[in-house]
Amino acid sequence: MKEKKECKMCGRYDYLEEHHLIFGRGLRGLSDKYKLVINICRPCHNKIHKDKDLMNWSRQKGQKMFEKNHTRKEFIKIFGKDYLSDKEQI
Ligand SMILES: [Zn+2]
Ligand SMILES: [Zn+2]
Repeated sequence: MKEKKECKMCGRYDYLEEHHLIFGRGLRGLSDKYKLVINICRPCHNKIHKDKDLMNWSRQKGQKMFEKNHTRKEFIKIFGKDYLSDKEQI
């Protein structure tokens, strides 16, 4: 799968940085391992680490990416959380 080089949030093409979709204590490395990484531009990147809704969006997106090749059980086992079901219950 070829990834387009553009910001996954606003679509711009410059100042792109790698963002680990699931981050936090010990999780960044796991994001690396399972390639849960997207390109986003610097302004969006700054936002994503400060805005709770965006952090949620990021983690859910990460879980969805993971679940393309793995089961939800595996996700919970590896990451210790279930960002998608937690949200759905509300
Ligand atoms: Zn952007
Ligand atoms: Zn980031």
